Amino acid sequence: MIGFEEKRKVQIRPIAEAKARILRSNIGRVTIKDTRTRWGSCSAKGNLNFSWRILLMPKKVFEYIIIHEVAHLREQNHGKEFWKLVQFMHPNFDHSRLWLKKYGEKLHRIG
Ligand SMILES: [Zn+2]
Repeated sequence: MIGFEEKRKVQIRPIAEAKARILRSNIGRVTIKDTRTRWGSCSAKGNLNFSWRILLMPKKVFEYIIIHEVAHLREQNHGKEFWKLVQFMHPNFDHSRLWLKKYGEKLHRIG
């Protein structure tokens, strides 16, 4: 891995912890995996998994992915309450979702 990816990698846990604190939740283990179908997931125990490809994303989108999974600590589904939490932690998340729509497929194909 090149330098900036390493830097991004070590940022995941502190960002997730800080965001979880806002929701008064706790995260479990943070794991980086080689998943192609999704960017991240959150287990019932609060363990967070992320695709290593998120390390290549622009900072804001990278943060959005983390926030998205952290929001699942409180809301398991993608209902109204879930998006309210995301909005609260990442006010311009629409931009990140657009970016993912536009470039996500390409990124999934890397590696
Ligand atoms: Zn989700």
